Amino acid sequence: MAKFYVLIGPPGAGKGTQAKIIAEKYGLVHISSGDLFRENLKNETELGKLAQGFMARGELVPDDVTIGMVRDRISRPDCKNGALLDGFPRTPAQADALAVMLKEFDSKVELVPLIDVPAQTLIDRLSGRWSCRAQGHVFHEKFNPPQVAGICDIDGSELYQREDDQRSTVENRIKVYTQQTAPLIEYYQSRNLLVTVDGTKPIDEVSADLQAAIEKA
Ligand code: ADP
Ligand code: ADP
Repeated sequence: MAKFYVLIGPPGAGKGTQAKIIAEKYGLVHISSGDLFRENLKNETELGKLAQGFMARGELVPDDVTIGMVRDRISRPDCKNGALLDGFPRTPAQADALAVMLKEFDSKVELVPLIDVPAQTLIDRLSGRWSCRAQGHVFHEKFNPPQVAGICDIDGSELYQREDDQRSTVENRIKVYTQQTAPLIEYYQSRNLLVTVDGTKPIDEVSADLQAAIEKA
């Protein structure tokens, strides 16, 4: 049966960083809802135009739009063995919708690792984050610097700083996380799917903890 994993955690917790590592290790497809939205923005699609204002303000894109976009992605044949979801679901309504769509594919959520990081650390992480244009690889100017400044180590594309990583937007994103996404902790805890990992450790230690959790599940 296909295996679906859901990474949750506040903005800057390290979801994208860890998703790339874990997806490669287990041969899973990495699905980042933020990357899907940014791709639509770049291609100036209707969906991108709709999402743009919400993203710029650090608010969530409405559930129906987000759910439709992820459903399309999960329906593609490369997800037939499962996927690692990063940034979706972000509300209990999205989590309900995910359960329904996975049921249609005769599957379910296997495990939900929460990457736990306190708010002050998040601001330091996001203000130094550099993201790759081509595939969403992420670096940090102090904590995980690329070999050559401004260039992705992995695919050679340009690194840029996301507009929504400026401090005022980050503060709003953390507030939105606390109000709208943190209820998912309880949601998945009550379904015995949640496992919490300390996200303040160095990147390779967090990866090792995540792998241990996945192998135990
Ligand atoms: P998210 O996807 O949860 O928003 P990212 O994976 O993009 O988070 O990480 C946010 C920033 O923090 C990036 O600049 C990344 O390089 C850095 N980072 C990720 N994990 C760690 C870690 N364990 N320690 C220090 N910095 C980290
Ligand atoms: P981060 O991991 O740094 O929080 P993402 O790249 O996951 O950021 O998301 C960037 C923006 O895209 C969010 O602030 C939000 O506007 C939008 N977005 C991403 N995923 C979702 C989602 N599941 N529901 C609603 N909006 C989303």
